[in-house]
Amino acid sequence: MPIPASQPLPPPDDSAAARTGGTVTDRLIEANESYAAAFTDPGMDARPVLKVAVVACMDARLDLHAALGLELGDCHTIRNAGGVVTDDIIRSLTISQRALGTRSVVLIHHTDCGLLSLTEDFRHDLAAEVGQRPTWAVEAFKDLDEDVRQSIQRVRTSPFLPHTDDVRGFVFDVTTGLLREISPRR
Ligand SMILES: [Zn+2]
Repeated sequence: MPIPASQPLPPPDDSAAARTGGTVTDRLIEANESYAAAFTDPGMDARPVLKVAVVACMDARLDLHAALGLELGDCHTIRNAGGVVTDDIIRSLTISQRALGTRSVVLIHHTDCGLLSLTEDFRHDLAAEVGQRPTWAVEAFKDLDEDVRQSIQRVRTSPFLPHTDDVRGFVFDVTTGLLREISPRR
């Protein structure tokens, strides 16, 4: 999650652009050219090898593949602000399970998440500013563990998902790199 708008934003970091003389996207395109030059088609199937979907926050400090020992082709990674289970996450999980064969769901929230410092005021302020009410909820939370439990519950009770017996939730500590498992709601 980016820093909430209510806090002062740090000055934009132009160092990446300065290195290449272009925008950050120009830098990404340049990196892709090197990547593609060394790329060989792994001939992989689209279905994840480990039959698992990982739902996590979009936070830039979370390197899911490294943190979970995952390799290319192993899993689906579905990310949004907070790693909260919204309708769109259910949409992706439904496609993941029904069309692409995944069976397990791993939910990951993390310490120091931007959503911990937001409230639904964010939505009201936004509506006041732009003159249009967003159709989505901010899904802010105050209690990480409780939000993980709610996310587990939303997956387990979804009528669209055929596989809800292996759904586990965790909080990733951004200072230690460790996952802490959250016991589901009884
Ligand atoms: Zn986050």
